Amino acid sequence: GEFTEQADLLVIGGGPGGYSAAIRASQLGRSVTLVERENIGGVCLNVGCIPSKALIELSSRFHELDSLSKKGVVTEDAHIDPIVLSQTVTGSVERLTSGVRQLLKAAEVEIVEGEASFVGPNEVRIRASHETSRIKFKDCILATGSSPRELDGFTVDHQRVLDSTDLLFTPVIRRDLIIIGGGYIGVELGSAHARLGTKVTILEMAPEIVMGVEPEIQRTLRTVLREMGVEVRTGVEVHGMKTVGDSVVVEITNGELTEEIRGNAVAVLVGRVPNLDDDLGLAMAGITIGSDYRVEVDDQMRTSNAHVFAIGDIVPGPMLAHKAYYEAKVAAEVAAGQQAGNDATVIPAVIFAEPEVAVAGLGEQEARSRYPDNVLVAKFPYRANGRAIVLGASVGEVKLIALADSRRLLGVHIVGIDASNLISEAVLAIELGATIDDLALTIHPHPTLSEMYPEAAEVAQGLPTHII
Ligand code: FAD
Repeated sequence: GEFTEQADLLVIGGGPGGYSAAIRASQLGRSVTLVERENIGGVCLNVGCIPSKALIELSSRFHELDSLSKKGVVTEDAHIDPIVLSQTVTGSVERLTSGVRQLLKAAEVEIVEGEASFVGPNEVRIRASHETSRIKFKDCILATGSSPRELDGFTVDHQRVLDSTDLLFTPVIRRDLIIIGGGYIGVELGSAHARLGTKVTILEMAPEIVMGVEPEIQRTLRTVLREMGVEVRTGVEVHGMKTVGDSVVVEITNGELTEEIRGNAVAVLVGRVPNLDDDLGLAMAGITIGSDYRVEVDDQMRTSNAHVFAIGDIVPGPMLAHKAYYEAKVAAEVAAGQQAGNDATVIPAVIFAEPEVAVAGLGEQEARSRYPDNVLVAKFPYRANGRAIVLGASVGEVKLIALADSRRLLGVHIVGIDASNLISEAVLAIELGATIDDLALTIHPHPTLSEMYPEAAEVAQGLPTHII
């Protein structure tokens, strides 16, 4: 029969949420067991953030060679070796995941391989390849993450019909590629493949790509994508596909019109679904799922079962790794008896396209409807920043949104080179309740892109230095 083990704190899932919760809980004195059914590191390290950024970085450097040649840095016969490229991406994943394994080992976290499902309020069954066992726990942190959403009529076969993973470890450069879904993953991977030389078409049902970001940023992104040779079709509905010879034909409608789009392959990048299916046995443990199909949690990340916490992609909010890391620490600290709670004001979001997009806090429209007649907006363009000019990166702007009366910063929106790193200053400023004038009064190093913060703040003050 099955034997039953005891765990003090059981963590289910070894992604950014699960592994960081395990480390923190162990540091704080809990004895931790971590169950993972696939790979330590989860989606982010194995098939998400890390490999996608590795590919994006390489494709971006390759693409830049063209313009470098015109500036006196001549590189002859530059080309892509797709096999080595793919190995480089894999290498970055291996370095990070083996690092995480070492951290877990050093923290004395016991790792159990297998798939967990609840059989009661404080007990799970673990199914591994050859055996099953049971673990009784005192407390549990659930971090099972998410999987790609499927699309009717498009069965992923990894040859003609691809998922995001197929686009990351890409052993061939395709002639043309159709991407269904113009969310951040579609835009990031679409621009990476375009830079490697593939003709990319992005099909999006919504009226714009990357819904939710500022309209002027969407326009900038679209222009740059077009210049890169990416065709973006918005407001189109995808109906189905067929294969003809070695091509795929995707049928779309655009209002009344029906059209066929041809390519070598089609990638389905239409969002992600939390891993909460019936196999997980949530009902057996009295864990409630909300109408948004996410686990309901309080601000201490506790589910409706007082001994089970939930974090990461399975709970409400954006499905992002840094949100999972944050929630993991809250859950681990509460489980260790500390006073902790989820009181983040903003969760930044980044789109690693070219140029990068980074967002923190309220958008202009949302700010104006929340605070009528009390919103201040100021912008500063990259083309007026010295560092941006030497980087040859004049496309983009920094947009600040603040309350007009108290001058408190509400939101920051950046499109342009290195937006991903720049946004952290905005996050800190908003979390600390800084005003737009605080940004102007802070000395920023010269020449850096970060100077666009005080410069934009000076625009808000009506006292701009480097722009008319
Ligand atoms: P996951 O990373 O999904 O980990 C969950 C783990 O639980 C998995 O390893 C799974 O095998 C395991 N598991 C599930 N069920 C069970 C079970 N019953 N028993 C045992 N184990 C189980 N986010 C960013 O912030 N920045 C980015 O740049 C970014 N880029 C991305 C690019 C791509 C292509 C994709 C797909 C995602 C990207 N994300 C990015 C999102 C990010 O990967 C997720 O938000 C993050 O991985 C969520 O962490 P998690 O711990 O909640 O879940």
